Amino acid sequence: MSRRLLVLGAGTAGTMIANRMRRALDARDWQITIVDKDDVHLYQPGFLFLPFGTYRPEQVRRSRHTLLADGIDLVLAGVEQIDAPASTVTLTDGRVLAYDQLVITTGTSPRPDQTPGMLGEEWRRSIFDFYTVEGATALHAGLHGFTGGRLVVHVTETPIKCPVAPLEFVFLADAWLRARGLRGRTELVLATPLSGAFTQPIASERLGSMLVERGIQVETDFLVEHVDDQAKALVSYDERQVPFDLLVTVPLNMGADVITRSGLGNELGYVGVDRHTLRSRAHPNVFAVGDAADLPTSKAGSVAHFAVETFVRNFALLADGHDPVDSFDGHANCFIETGHGKGLLIDFDYDTQPLPGTYPLPWVGPLRLLTETRANHLGKLAFRWLYWNALLPGRPIPLPAHMSMRGKDTTLLADAA
Ligand SMILES: Cc1cc2nc3c(=O)[nH]c(=O)nc-3n(C[C@H](O)[C@H](O)[C@H](O)COP(=O)(O)OP(=O)(O)OC[C@H]3O[C@@H](n4cnc5c(N)ncnc54)[C@H](O)[C@@H]3O)c2cc1C
Repeated sequence: MSRRLLVLGAGTAGTMIANRMRRALDARDWQITIVDKDDVHLYQPGFLFLPFGTYRPEQVRRSRHTLLADGIDLVLAGVEQIDAPASTVTLTDGRVLAYDQLVITTGTSPRPDQTPGMLGEEWRRSIFDFYTVEGATALHAGLHGFTGGRLVVHVTETPIKCPVAPLEFVFLADAWLRARGLRGRTELVLATPLSGAFTQPIASERLGSMLVERGIQVETDFLVEHVDDQAKALVSYDERQVPFDLLVTVPLNMGADVITRSGLGNELGYVGVDRHTLRSRAHPNVFAVGDAADLPTSKAGSVAHFAVETFVRNFALLADGHDPVDSFDGHANCFIETGHGKGLLIDFDYDTQPLPGTYPLPWVGPLRLLTETRANHLGKLAFRWLYWNALLPGRPIPLPAHMSMRGKDTTLLADAA
């Protein structure tokens, strides 16, 4: 009898896994089923560009059916409950799916309902987000109606997916306002719970000085307690107020509710897994890959991609009770749009913070790390094509899954030590 591999969530990680595993596993031995609540796959990195009109909503969505290889069973229903001891999953329509191996790829979502006042009368009037396609589309209208005042970009709490996206938004907003002659009439503010622009010191210093150069104010260590939507101000636990005319917030990000309901998550609903094998620490036939996992690295599509490489190499061995042959290192790389047709790139893992250098080829590039270039911006734009046509179908991409120190300038590390 064939074995059953069940994947929950047909987003970035789930789609890649289903497609890669369909090629790697004999169809006579393994059935592959993937579940998602709807048939709309969203290219989330494109959300950043929707408010500025660079992309239109139809450019960031596709039917999930068109993205999955033959021989994969796509089930469209919500996941209601995971019973890990019984190895079954109950769907919202009442169906029960049994599995031999389970991969949780349910991602993370913005939760404005978790901050008092955020979802009040001003939601999508003067308070917006761009972490959903609806939010980014509403913000397009909000931004185009903005005539000056205080534009505040805000991060509620970390971790968030794509931790550089709020910085990208603030850089793009700066450039967009300048192009429209509105920058002189706008105070641009970044309110963040971090003590600097980013979590890692070398990148934080570089990005922090870019904010200063552009005249963007930064309100650090800002932990929002509530949003006063009458007074139009963010209010922090230490009673600081940040007034706004237009607020672009990144709400608290949380794992899927079903993870918490099923007793599989930490306080934010992320699944506890071994950081090198991605296997559940509690249930040996359960894995979590991508944003759903509680890994100490960024939540990003690139991380999902590199983690899938390790997952694919190890899966059949682990399922048969053997030792893994590969170990995930937390590898992440993120393009950072900085406005005016330029961008930055950062590359890091669990142990090494972003450093200057070249990527992907040591000393050649063509991309430069922690340096603003046009090539990095073009790389970010080219990524959308790569996502639909190579990454999701699981075609080989000549990028090493593990982070390399070759071509990286380590002198700054020595300076910091
Ligand atoms: C604004 C923005 C910009 C970004 N920019 C970048 C970038 O430049 N580079 C980068 O690498 N990453 C970027 N990301 C992050 C990237 O999109 C995510 O990290 C990536 O999609 C994670 O993949 P995933 O498979 O873990 O989760 P997702 O792709 O989010 O997939 C999760 C899936 O699970 C499904 N699901 C959840 N709960 C249930 C349930 N109960 N029942 C059924 N289905 C369920 C969802 O419908 C979804 O399809 C960005 C994200 C945002 C929001």
